[in-house]
Amino acid sequence: MKADEWASELEIRERESCIARARQPIAQGNGICVDCLEVVEAERSRLLRCLSCQQDEDLRQRQRTGGRRG
Ligand SMILES: [Zn+2]
Repeated sequence: MKADEWASELEIRERESCIARARQPIAQGNGICVDCLEVVEAERSRLLRCLSCQQDEDLRQRQRTGGRRG
């Protein structure tokens, strides 16, 4: 095996373990809505919020950022 091949394999493995570590602390997608702490719908389980809380959040964000003045 060539030296640089070996090196790149090590690098890949290291990167993979890095990614795995970074994924461990679950910031989102634990199936619990961050707003109401209810179980998120299964098809949305990778998201932070349940459907109704997401709609609320969308509204709030629109008012905060994209809201027209006047
Ligand atoms: Zn919710």
